[in-house]
Amino acid sequence: MHLTDIIETHFRIDKNQKKALEKLNLRTIRDLLFYFPTRYSDISAIKNINELSEGDTATVYGKISGLKTRKGFHKRIPMGEGWIEDITGGMKIIWFNQAYMAKMVHDGQSIKLTGKVTGGKQGLYLANPEIEKLGELPIDSHDSLFATKDGELTGVAYPVYRETRGITSKWIFHAIQKIFRSGILESIEEYLPAHILTTYHLPTLKTALIWVHTPKNDKDAEAARKRFAFEEVFFIQLKRQQDRKEYEENKSYPIYTDPKEIEAFIKRFPFELTLGQKNAIETVLENVKGKHPMARLLEGDVGSGKTAVAAVAAFAAIKNRPNGQSFGNLQVAYMAPTEILATQHFENFIRYFEHTGISIGLITGSGCRKFPSKVASQVGNWTNISRAQLLKWVANGEIPILLGTHALIQKSVKFKHMALAIIDEQHRFGTLQRKKLATKEGFAPHLLSMTATPIPRTLALTIYGDLDLSLLDQMPSGRKPIITDIISPDKRALAYEAIRKELENGRQLYVICPRIDEPDPTKELALQAKSVTAEAKRLKKEVFPKYEIGVLHSKMTKQKKEEVMEEFSNGDINILCATSVVEVGVNVPNATIIVIEGAERFGLAQLHQLRGRVIRSNHQAYCYLFADAKSEKTMDRMKALKTAKNGFELSELDLALRGAGELSGAKQWGITDLGMEAIKNIKMVEAARAEATRIILENATISHEPKLKKALDAKNLEIHFE
Ligand code: ADP
Ligand code: MG
Repeated sequence: MHLTDIIETHFRIDKNQKKALEKLNLRTIRDLLFYFPTRYSDISAIKNINELSEGDTATVYGKISGLKTRKGFHKRIPMGEGWIEDITGGMKIIWFNQAYMAKMVHDGQSIKLTGKVTGGKQGLYLANPEIEKLGELPIDSHDSLFATKDGELTGVAYPVYRETRGITSKWIFHAIQKIFRSGILESIEEYLPAHILTTYHLPTLKTALIWVHTPKNDKDAEAARKRFAFEEVFFIQLKRQQDRKEYEENKSYPIYTDPKEIEAFIKRFPFELTLGQKNAIETVLENVKGKHPMARLLEGDVGSGKTAVAAVAAFAAIKNRPNGQSFGNLQVAYMAPTEILATQHFENFIRYFEHTGISIGLITGSGCRKFPSKVASQVGNWTNISRAQLLKWVANGEIPILLGTHALIQKSVKFKHMALAIIDEQHRFGTLQRKKLATKEGFAPHLLSMTATPIPRTLALTIYGDLDLSLLDQMPSGRKPIITDIISPDKRALAYEAIRKELENGRQLYVICPRIDEPDPTKELALQAKSVTAEAKRLKKEVFPKYEIGVLHSKMTKQKKEEVMEEFSNGDINILCATSVVEVGVNVPNATIIVIEGAERFGLAQLHQLRGRVIRSNHQAYCYLFADAKSEKTMDRMKALKTAKNGFELSELDLALRGAGELSGAKQWGITDLGMEAIKNIKMVEAARAEATRIILENATISHEPKLKKALDAKNLEIHFE
């Protein structure tokens, strides 16, 4: 058996299992070996059935009976049912949409169930529990598991792996045990430098693999997880710092500034800059003077005014002539994650730059525009132009500022003197895209990345290891804090009443729903969320009949989306029912109220982003979180939205409140659940960072640590989005 062998070589798997493995990203023996348990079943969590109460996630042992399958009354989803009984009592079991579960066992069998105790019309039931047939538990390979001492269960640490239909946790467990038995571990080479293992008391790779999959006790499992968590952060750090070194070796156009001109440009803004904006501008203008590219991240809450900073940097760039010429301008690319946003920036930039007389272009997947128009009837306005024409003018330098979406970094887009690249909502672009900005001749633009997603410092240090950080931690003055309320189902009518008053005052409303269309019949009833289209109809009919209601979601065409945004923007639509597509940067100052349906289903950071949509003016803004949250943890998370002073504080709270295994939001950062355990630990992150810095300083290619280099190159640490 070799690490690189594909799984099928050693395991007989059917088509469904193959699909399931693919879904879990498991292809090779190595993938399996590095597929870690999400948790260990803890025998102390085993409960007597008569002790269970609503909301518990519980493991019970007992005899199963009354197994049957049927179609649900509502929506007719397939359901499985049964009854579990131990010596203290019994409880109903329901598998929604998993009728097959009821067929995996038979009446009278002794089983172990883990599921959520849920309240229903006819009392408590165990919802969608995982089944473990007791006879099949790997008792012999797990002497720690069911060693009975005076008939009592002792020991812990039976690994539980993330499953998917077709592949169970148990299958994975047995597969890994088989791999262990093949002796493959003997051929596994340690790649972390020895001094790191000793300094931080980390087990070797081989030991850690055994401990993570078959720990004899809690401590072993923890030590193994610590090693892999450290390793993950360390590897990301190495990669990012390597990227940074590489990027900095490029040449770039120095951008010089005339303070008087900058001052005059800033004077044209209809507001005073905040201190944060001033500081950020000063740092950026200092950085871009260099012959090597700046790589800076501007992190600031939604509405903190990042666009103004970007505009000043762009202005500084276009005021420079390329290569000592007496004509032309250095060029700026400004990339936004959505067409709506790119178009909005284009319109703002026209206002900021019309007095300079330069041309501004817009390129998106669905077309190109140029300002100013040469058509006489459209003077002072923009015009649609062909892509070929736009690209020509960008390539010969006639269009100094080009805004756009991803379309901007396609190969066909060539700049003559690209000096500055601005990337809005940075986290949606990976380092790979960033690298594309550098030319073959070793020229790279200064880079100003911007993000409105405040993240904990440990996470920022890790994923942005290749960027310098500027913070806008202050809102423009005069903004009133958003009044945030958590609305339980029985308070709905009151909230609508309050909202109606604001609508009567001429304000506008966002209603965010978690789904686009009709509820998904494959989901458990309790999970069914409001859909945008259905909710818009309901609101029109039952709640706000007097007002115009529009719908916006990602499945609409770009043109339709723009039309709707336009109508909302100019007030023809009073209420916009949308999915979280409005999350990113949309700016309608008169929309001061936001309702978020199924708020408990969103992450805190996302809720914060959504809420940020309504802090665009000096009117009092309101955010109503319609939540059906029964668990205390969910309520704590919701409450954090009320109490946190700003996004950074919120992100720290979020990290602290979330348990391991619930960190699914972390996926967007390219960090595993295990890695997130390290992110919670500032000391570990700092240690990983320091060790990585030391190695990169010594030799950025890492050729002096060949095993480490090989392991690093084998990992795919690129962050991919969308
Ligand atoms: P974000 O940081 O979310 O990108 P924007 O740059 O879109 O924020 O700014 C949000 C709004 O605040 C815009 O309407 C902008 O004109 C305004 N704004 C920016 N800076 C200031 C300021 N210093 N004072 C008042 N309003 C400002
Ligand atoms: Mg913005």
